[in-house]
Amino acid sequence: MRLRNKPWAVKLVQEHPESVLDRPDPEKQIDWSQRFADCSRPLEIEVGSGKGHFITTLAEQNPDKNFVALELQVTAAGMILRTKLEKKLDNLQILCADAADITAFFAANSADTLYLNFSDPWPKTKHEKRRLTYKTFLEKYKKILKPGGQIEFKTDNSGLFSYSVASMNNYGMHFDFVSVDLHHENEEIVAKNIETEYEHKFAAKGNPIYALHADFGVE
Ligand code: SAM
Repeated sequence: MRLRNKPWAVKLVQEHPESVLDRPDPEKQIDWSQRFADCSRPLEIEVGSGKGHFITTLAEQNPDKNFVALELQVTAAGMILRTKLEKKLDNLQILCADAADITAFFAANSADTLYLNFSDPWPKTKHEKRRLTYKTFLEKYKKILKPGGQIEFKTDNSGLFSYSVASMNNYGMHFDFVSVDLHHENEEIVAKNIETEYEHKFAAKGNPIYALHADFGVE
């Protein structure tokens, strides 16, 4: 999804370097201790946050954890930033960058959970390598996640879901939770779920939402 360029969003990002890392140099390490009050707290990352409803809600509900919204588009980063400022979310940082460089931005074994929500499906076989659950991405996620750290993935796209299950399974990942209709799981699961913008749109059309939680095991 490409968002139409919003000049206000670009300007807001430029005005808030303390909250947004705007296309940082992947050759330089990021010192997260300068950006979070307490780096000993659990770290959770959403890859491809879009307009940010999911990650800003999660950050609001969990003031005892640190969150990073990793998003390619600067307009989307500006929209997440606007909510972060409105809600005064000191535990949320925005990283405007390509997930392909994720291992440059986070230390090995530093993240507890990684969220992939409604990632672009890239349905053509020739674009397989761009899917955020392709094996080269899994390899990178494995590096930055702590042992036992989880990937939580949601999509309405059955093709991307079955591809991702196979890709994770081939990578030797363990599945802790799998649903082919998340919105009709038991009450507790449904109540805990935070909808993303895409999820809201597709669920309203009656599409089932697929979800899984998986980990790389503890070596
Ligand atoms: N997660 C949001 C939701 O569920 O509403 C947005 C979903 S949208 C289909 C996918 C988002 O991922 C877009 O905002 C896009 O810019 C971002 N994205 C795609 N590829 C990315 C990458 N390689 N690195 C970071 N973000 C990426």
